Amino acid sequence: MKIIDIFKAQARTFSFEFYPPKDEISAVDFGINVGQLIKLNPSFVSVTYGAGGSSQERTFALVGYLQQKIGLQTMAHYTCVGASKEKIIADMQSIQTMGVDNLMLLRGDPPQGVEVFEPLPGGFAHASELVAFIRAAGFDFCIGGAAYPEKHPEAASMPQDIANLKRKTDAGASFLVTQLFFDNAGYFRFVEQCRAAGIACRIIPGILPLTSFSQWTRFAEMGHAPEALNEKIQSCGENPKKIYQAGMDFAIAQCRELLSEGAPGLHFFTLNKSRATVEIFETLKGV
Ligand SMILES: Cc1cc2nc3c(=O)[nH]c(=O)nc-3n(C[C@H](O)[C@H](O)[C@H](O)COP(=O)(O)OP(=O)(O)OC[C@H]3O[C@@H](n4cnc5c(N)ncnc54)[C@H](O)[C@@H]3O)c2cc1C
Repeated sequence: MKIIDIFKAQARTFSFEFYPPKDEISAVDFGINVGQLIKLNPSFVSVTYGAGGSSQERTFALVGYLQQKIGLQTMAHYTCVGASKEKIIADMQSIQTMGVDNLMLLRGDPPQGVEVFEPLPGGFAHASELVAFIRAAGFDFCIGGAAYPEKHPEAASMPQDIANLKRKTDAGASFLVTQLFFDNAGYFRFVEQCRAAGIACRIIPGILPLTSFSQWTRFAEMGHAPEALNEKIQSCGENPKKIYQAGMDFAIAQCRELLSEGAPGLHFFTLNKSRATVEIFETLKGV
């Protein structure tokens, strides 16, 4: 089923993002966590697409498994990285054969240490070009794209980034999922700016609950950790239980506010774990 048809039936969607497990032990762990998440009856799930070749094969394998064996409405991520036109056509045919109706089309990131994204000769430099190519090739997928409430790091300004986002929806992206953020006011401001630029589709907030010291340190170093959470975490010392609870309290409050202020659902970057997402869901009943 296409995600745009799910939208017709659900005013708000709740979706989970996974990445392909890297080895057998991670696969077992993933199975246990997915088992917990399925009980929440997600609107759809999605599987990320890595830059390396083997990880791309694992994406397709996992997408096929979740769609065909588990019966979840699954969205395959796909990027311009290493994607010639011939490869794109062949990959789209494989995804179609699996009975998958939904794609998240992305540009992808340059390899580590490289600052500027270099498209493959004859390939695509922007997600909007990939969207237009797949549409023109006649594939009937429901296509989603990525959006950045704090601006894509490479964009010179927010208005420019939003103008580029409009190219993506004009090319055929039917909905957007945001990069993770912690400032709800920034998200709502961004949605307003998108509406003013003529982007009318759903813009689903991407949520990452920060529940461990190492996660928090990583985001704090990048300057992304929210001030309110910083203070709480500092007061926890390095006590993992207290840090987990502080992160959960913040994520629950963030999700409650997003929903009560009119966000069209939540997309959880689960990192292949279930505990935080399940706990957040339980507290959101009735919001
Ligand atoms: C929800 C979500 C899921 C993701 N999943 C994956 C994944 O599975 N695998 C993966 O490798 N990465 C993934 N990413 C990361 C993504 O690949 C990177 O953020 C990447 O840097 C940008 O991808 P994009 O599709 O947003 O690119 P684009 O939409 O192409 O934008 C990238 C930059 O180019 C600019 N731009 C766009 N069009 C034009 C134009 N026509 N002319 C000039 N400038 C332009 C934009 O303003 C922006 O600065 C994901 C990101 C999000 C938010």
